[in-house]
Amino acid sequence: MTRAECDALVVRARAARQRAYAPYSKYLVGAALLGVDGVIYEGCNVENASYGGTICAERTAVVRAVASGCREFRAIAITTSSPKPAPPCGFCLQVMSEFASDLPIILSAPKGAWKLTSIRKLLPMAFVKKDL
Ligand SMILES: [Zn+2]
Repeated sequence: MTRAECDALVVRARAARQRAYAPYSKYLVGAALLGVDGVIYEGCNVENASYGGTICAERTAVVRAVASGCREFRAIAITTSSPKPAPPCGFCLQVMSEFASDLPIILSAPKGAWKLTSIRKLLPMAFVKKDL
């Protein structure tokens, strides 16, 4: 991923964040997942009055991509409501690792510089198919 590609993905994640449905936590999150097909699959968190029904932005993006026929990804950008770039939750890391063992992850806040990391760094011992 070039710096320009990362910048572009962060712009899309920030835009997706504006569409988050988070009336309970008020913690808006957006994600932009770049598929190998060149399509950027956007996601946002979608909360539910039954809190367990809530889905994070990252998983929304992955589900959207898979449902569209794309199962291989180049990178994901995530924008949270935190003032500094914050990592995905463990649940989302696990779901992303199903499709990309070392996916580049670009973490960003609503404003300011982004930070590049990866699934392998954030979830070094992911539970995967071969563990079954
Ligand atoms: Zn999550």
